[in-house]
Amino acid sequence: MSECLFCKIAKGEIPANIVYEDENCVAFEDIAPQAPVHILVIPREHYSGIHEVPTNRLELFTNIFKSSTKVIEIKKLSKVGYRIVSNFGDSAGQTVPHIHLHILSGRDFQWPPG
Ligand code: AMP
Ligand code: ZN
Repeated sequence: MSECLFCKIAKGEIPANIVYEDENCVAFEDIAPQAPVHILVIPREHYSGIHEVPTNRLELFTNIFKSSTKVIEIKKLSKVGYRIVSNFGDSAGQTVPHIHLHILSGRDFQWPPG
């Protein structure tokens, strides 16, 4: 998906404040943070939602959570706590159709979410 914003960030074509990256994933600061810590973790491979990942590509989920663990370590979030969210579709408020986990931390969060 050459026109996808997050594909462009993954390829370095659009700048981002990168927190962690490896051959499979990129983690970067959200441009409009909703908490003191707000980091997005994306696979380099393009899928709009988790349900689109084929069964022969399930290592994508291992990789995105391995990268999330790196972010939690780098930002020292395990003591303060964190919330991980992934939105899909208009009803969930998804604005970028490329799989991403939001890692939010540094304030108290409500439950149920809005
Ligand atoms: P979602 O609304 O769940 O699809 O999440 C998309 C997120 O991407 C939002 O929180 C946006 O603030 C964030 N975002 C949009 N453009 C950029 C960008 N260029 N760099 C970093 N984050 C972005
Ligand atoms: Zn993409």
